[in-house]
Amino acid sequence: MSKVVRSDEDLLLTLLNSSPLLDGEPRDELRGPGAGAWLRTHEIPGTPRTSRELRDAIAAVVRGEARPTTLQHYLHAVRQIPVLTEEGVQWKTIGGGIGARAVLAWAALGDRLRACENDQECRLFLIDRSKPNTRRWCSMKTCGNRLKARRHHEKLKSPTD
Ligand SMILES: [Zn+2]
Repeated sequence: MSKVVRSDEDLLLTLLNSSPLLDGEPRDELRGPGAGAWLRTHEIPGTPRTSRELRDAIAAVVRGEARPTTLQHYLHAVRQIPVLTEEGVQWKTIGGGIGARAVLAWAALGDRLRACENDQECRLFLIDRSKPNTRRWCSMKTCGNRLKARRHHEKLKSPTD
């Protein structure tokens, strides 16, 4: 059996979700003495510093705080080479490393990759693979229910709405 190769989308989401809020406390897996081990566990090549830079750069673009062109430098070393197969030409992407893989995955996902709407209590991102593309929370179990409960509570507090 061949080794399971991690998809670049999965790698991107893991990287983006490496600084969650846990019980309201910000936590950064890419800072501190455990950062290197965390990267190895998740099979993400690179140092904690370069991984943080990559994560923060993509996260800022996804949140609309930075322009997509700020990610251009990650693609400088990327080349595509044509490979002839029985089915015709297929383009093989080479070069650029983890930064290019993550940025290309982000570009291919478009608006299917977004921040969880529970932005007061959650800093996670989600990839919506559903057909209607209307998912709003990283997890219905946690953020979805929490937000619904809060809205319900707010409704009860202000009956004039
Ligand atoms: Zn969430």
